[in-house]
Amino acid sequence: MKADPAVQRRLLELADVDAELGRVEHRRRTLPELAEVAEAEKAVQAKRDAQVAGDTTLADVDREVRRQEKEIDAVRAREDRDRGLLAGGTVSAKQMTDLEHELETLQRRQSTLEDDLLELMERREALEMDSKHAGVELAKAEEALADANRRRDEVLADLETTQARRDAERVELVPRFPEPLLGLYERVRKNKGIGAALLRARRCGACRIELDRSAISRIAGSAADEVLTCEECGAIMVRTPESGL
Ligand SMILES: [Zn+2]
Repeated sequence: MKADPAVQRRLLELADVDAELGRVEHRRRTLPELAEVAEAEKAVQAKRDAQVAGDTTLADVDREVRRQEKEIDAVRAREDRDRGLLAGGTVSAKQMTDLEHELETLQRRQSTLEDDLLELMERREALEMDSKHAGVELAKAEEALADANRRRDEVLADLETTQARRDAERVELVPRFPEPLLGLYERVRKNKGIGAALLRARRCGACRIELDRSAISRIAGSAADEVLTCEECGAIMVRTPESGL
């Protein structure tokens, strides 16, 4: 295949554009910001779960407090009724003894219930503190997630800008190559990743292999418009004064 040496050299511009487009694609897939977002999402979920668990326990204790208060009210009502009967003076001596006995039992019961209630209230207070703390932790985790999302979006936007610029350059460049040369370039690029590279200091710029003496003399003997490809990687080898021929 033959192509004007100036056109061949322009292939290096296209290769530069394609190399950067490749780097953009690779970066987009391997951004550390993606892992950071995933990590931050996990943290938010964990904090949210902790908060839900804490709130559930708090609701259980609240229910227990209400049950306990109701029971204390019932015991008090019973005591009031007994005291009323004792004060009324209409009960027999035996009933009086029974009522006094019952009152003692009720008072002991009330005292136990009140101690339990106090314990419950203390537990409730501790749980409320935990819940407040869990809320703060969740807010922090959500802030970290928003931050990670923002950083990821910034990097993606940068990559998007670079890609748009390089795509535009590519659209500009491509029509300037004759079809067979461009076809060869695209075929090699598709198979090997790099379609064309500078032959520099006797090395193929694509695979970096150093060419042996006979290959170099063959290249040196080729016409300037001959399209040469690397025997190792297939890339079009573009010659310039830097090629060391
Ligand atoms: Zn090569």
